[in-house]
Amino acid sequence: MTGTSLLVVTAHVGDFVWRCGGAIALHAKQGIPVHVVCLSFGENGESNAAWSAAPAPSREEVKACRRAEAETAATLLGAAHVDFLDLGDYPLPESTATVQRIAQAIRRIKPATILTHPERDPSNLDHCRTFNMVLGARMMALAPGHGADIASPAQVMSFEPHQPELCDFKPNVMLDISDVWDTKKQAMQAMPTQKNLWAYYERVALQRGAQAGRRGQSAAVYGEAFQSIFPAVRSSLV
Ligand SMILES: [Zn+2]
Repeated sequence: MTGTSLLVVTAHVGDFVWRCGGAIALHAKQGIPVHVVCLSFGENGESNAAWSAAPAPSREEVKACRRAEAETAATLLGAAHVDFLDLGDYPLPESTATVQRIAQAIRRIKPATILTHPERDPSNLDHCRTFNMVLGARMMALAPGHGADIASPAQVMSFEPHQPELCDFKPNVMLDISDVWDTKKQAMQAMPTQKNLWAYYERVALQRGAQAGRRGQSAAVYGEAFQSIFPAVRSSLV
């Protein structure tokens, strides 16, 4: 049976903060458990400021720095749990073993919805590989031949990539995150290694908030955009 929890799977540690930190905080605030799986620390490709510290840090020090930032951000957002698979990045390896690990998490958590990267991202193939492995894991989690603890088919939603047009990202869900914006902002600021993204993701949230406000009941100020991979099933259209 599908539960009411949320599972977030990202290629790199920063991704869950910039792209769906509001969704994490919003659901956590509603008492819905949110589990985060980071496939890598993003130590090679998304930790530029950490590498430029003096004296020059070791790879393990950069990874430890990013882990500490991600743990602080996840705690601020109210995530129930965050797992670090430490698979390496740029490139992130795609493997059957990782698909199996994500499938086990899906079977254990039984999420109603899985948030992850979009299918396409020509500038960051780690994100595409994560999408592929999540879809593979979801398929595996539904297959009775892999064990009796099968999961029900979770919705998969892609969160907004850094360059949406390049990724053919066409959002069909706008989430009003105005009530938890301060929390998301604190979580972003808990990631000083990617300080260069703070202002950008505030602008993205304002942009999506303005769009959400045109369709919502209340005037949203801050928003996040998502694209459902599977159709929503409803019993009524009104
Ligand atoms: Zn990333």
